[in-house]
Amino acid sequence: MLEDKNQTRTPLSELGEFKLIDHLTKQTKIHHDSTVKGVGDDCAVIDNGGQLSLVTTDLLVEGVHFDLSYMPLKHLGYKAVMVNLSDVYSMNGNAKQITVSIAVSNRFPLEALEELYAGIHLACKTYNVDLVGGDTTSSTKGLLISITAIGQVEKERIAYRSGAGSNDLLVVTGDLGAAYLGLQVLEREKQVFQVNPNAEHELDNYTYLVERQLKPEARKDIVKLLADLEVSPTSMIDISDGLSSEILHLCKASKKGCQLYEDKIPLDQQVISTCEEFNIDSTMVALSGGEDYELLFTVKQEDFPKIKANPNLSIIGHMTDEPDLIQLVTRGGQKVDITAQGWNALDEK
Ligand code: ADP
Ligand code: MG
Repeated sequence: MLEDKNQTRTPLSELGEFKLIDHLTKQTKIHHDSTVKGVGDDCAVIDNGGQLSLVTTDLLVEGVHFDLSYMPLKHLGYKAVMVNLSDVYSMNGNAKQITVSIAVSNRFPLEALEELYAGIHLACKTYNVDLVGGDTTSSTKGLLISITAIGQVEKERIAYRSGAGSNDLLVVTGDLGAAYLGLQVLEREKQVFQVNPNAEHELDNYTYLVERQLKPEARKDIVKLLADLEVSPTSMIDISDGLSSEILHLCKASKKGCQLYEDKIPLDQQVISTCEEFNIDSTMVALSGGEDYELLFTVKQEDFPKIKANPNLSIIGHMTDEPDLIQLVTRGGQKVDITAQGWNALDEK
């Protein structure tokens, strides 16, 4: 037995996720030259001679990351794969294999796990990925799913979080905020349903939002689009936690600042109308919402003509050589510091 001589008891809430990861991994020693990138990006990067291999893993826990009262198991299986493939695409790579590990309690019948795997198999088929292994074990209560994805990328095409240059354009794919609003709509329905189990579900006005929450698609198409356009992103990250959090990651890793323009943030019409209905700020939702699984990347100014009129891509800002200034330029022209929780309106400069 390893003896625990450490008598201090520091609550994890004092650190938060990112500081905790830093703390646990700061003593990590890399023993192999083939380990090109360890902790700190969307994937680990391993040099296998010709190409670079990409490895990423995510753990989803019932009650923390998903609620089975409105998340059908088939969708959960599909989404669990998407979360991982998105990290591979965000390195500008292609996903090739996954492993799937589950811990499951006897609350789940075989048919439930068949549903889960129907979603996993559909994702593998749609994204041309092979399921090559995993692990199965029991849990005392909930369901846990851990997926590892393996991908490949050519050395000259890999995109790290750390490569953004001053004056590079900041670009985002698709539109933002819908997945978060989809979750709010589903949570609201769940509460109505708990009060009155016979209540009609009224989701007609929110179909896009609910789909973005329950059946997200990772942006494999963007990796191909960028190759076709002959654009090499200087840095890239996927949007799992929200635009503001990902911008902070890119800026920190690249040691750059950023000016993000509020009026350039792409929003679907359903996001705009639902924000009005719920009386919440659509910019806040896009910045802090998360789970959009879009890609956020930077390109050199000279690539502007190649990306400008593309309906998949929105130029939302630019990088600067002032790492301490990571700002949202509001519609009114005010500059507001971007923080991990979104932006602090009290902190206007
Ligand atoms: P993402 O949101 O892209 O999945 P994370 O924020 O989960 O990335 O992780 C950031 C980095 O920290 C990644 O390189 C990941 O592999 C690493 N990491 C996360 N948790 C651990 C852990 N418990 N031990 C070692 N490395 C970790
Ligand atoms: Mg990621």
